[in-house]
Amino acid sequence: MKLATFDAGNGPRLGVVGDGGIVDLATVNPRLPTTMIALIAAWDAVKGDVAEAAKVPPHHKLSDVTLLAPVPRPGKAMAIGLNYADHIAESGQETPKNQIWFAKVPTSINAPNADIEIPSTTHFVDYEAEMVAIIGKGGRNISKADAPAAVFGYCCGNDVTARDWQFKSPQWSVGKSFDTHGPIGPWIVTADEVGDPHDLGIRGFVNGEKRQDSNTKNLVFNVFDQLAELSQAMTLEPGDVIFTGTPGGVGAAMKPPVKLNDGDVVRVEIDKLGAIEAKMKAC
Ligand code: MG
Repeated sequence: MKLATFDAGNGPRLGVVGDGGIVDLATVNPRLPTTMIALIAAWDAVKGDVAEAAKVPPHHKLSDVTLLAPVPRPGKAMAIGLNYADHIAESGQETPKNQIWFAKVPTSINAPNADIEIPSTTHFVDYEAEMVAIIGKGGRNISKADAPAAVFGYCCGNDVTARDWQFKSPQWSVGKSFDTHGPIGPWIVTADEVGDPHDLGIRGFVNGEKRQDSNTKNLVFNVFDQLAELSQAMTLEPGDVIFTGTPGGVGAAMKPPVKLNDGDVVRVEIDKLGAIEAKMKAC
């Protein structure tokens, strides 16, 4: 199932995306939760009703709605660094023995196709195409064996980065957390529909030029390793967002380095998950 948060002119609504468009869940069944986090938290009890509601003809064409981030304000968004061999090599780093985690603060989360800001306070904004895992049941001290059941679904993400801010301190979180620098979407594809999350082609484009081209099978620490590690420290909650790492081909590693500029169009696409595409906007 593909679950979206969208706005057709009356504020955020939950929808199921199908071939013909989008079904507005609250219109079909007003008893269903009205936010993605609440829907995910109640999923075991409501998934049958959601599947039933999705059978009606769509209320909107996708082209007639604005897609919002599927989880517009997650409780937390965490991201792993240096997690594809080719990106590690281009970054001049050794393969990490331990997982390297940083936060993208929840206010950085952005709609999948909304403009991405280049504020005058940074002089180098870069893209990172990433698969994003959305936590379902979550929990603490999740074993690798139990981790698949802790994931609700997957979507595309762009771990947009202010490189100058990333490296002016030993902690990356501020450079990774500028407003609008966490676009995710276009919707969540539920884990059962994705199947194996470690066999998906992932690509990043700037103005139509393919800059990143890899597969999630190349993750150094796979999604389930990541949840097992992270949940030793913190309780993973429904709707939490996990950026799982970017492959090689980022702008900072080009020779010479190439930053994103006003008007550039950045696209992330992942097999089975769809694509997000946004324009860069100097401000
Ligand atoms: Mg990243």
